[in-house]
Amino acid sequence: MVLRLIEDYAKKHKIPIMQKEGINFLVDYIKNNNIKTILEIGSAIGYSAINMALVHKDIKIITIERDKELYFKALQNIKDFGLEKQIEVINADALDVELEKKFDLIFIDAAKAQYINFFVKFKDNLSENGVIITDNINFHGLVENIDNITSKRLKSLVKKIKKYIDFLKENEEFTTEFVDVGDGISISKRNR
Ligand code: SAH
Ligand code: MG
Repeated sequence: MVLRLIEDYAKKHKIPIMQKEGINFLVDYIKNNNIKTILEIGSAIGYSAINMALVHKDIKIITIERDKELYFKALQNIKDFGLEKQIEVINADALDVELEKKFDLIFIDAAKAQYINFFVKFKDNLSENGVIITDNINFHGLVENIDNITSKRLKSLVKKIKKYIDFLKENEEFTTEFVDVGDGISISKRNR
């Protein structure tokens, strides 16, 4: 099994997996910061989880996916890579999942309209030096060009991402760095 096959599958079925540049950044971040436990919100077909698990065999990931079909596809892909011991997939809406565990990294890559809710819900699952990383902060450049959007639905979604960015910027508990890589990534760390 090679990652290329998952990338092709995602393209064919229009599944929004992380862009190459973004995933490379994430993988390097995990390496450089010695991250060992990860919670991912939004597994899709397991592409990002597999990439993260491949960094080191001691890395353990819990990833949550609400769509049943994608969940099964993720399980299959993870099995094909022999990573079942490292990656646990939960089939549920993340907002209904209660976890006791603490994680070095919480990676948010699911419904954009819920970003603030995911952040608030899971921030207490961070280990002492833990970080929350969020994908699609630029949302294909639309966040910068909000006035040019004609579709009402899209505009409302982009407004929600903007709201999340403001929430992060104004947050007194966390400090956030925005990185212009892939589709835009934010890195939030608790102030000490
Ligand atoms: N991280 C993946 C891509 C995730 S795409 C990768 O890069 O490989 C976003 C996924 O989040 C979709 O599959 C969608 O079904 C899922 N999702 C959206 N809202 C969710 C929620 N509230 N709980 C769980 N999964 C959710
Ligand atoms: Mg994404």
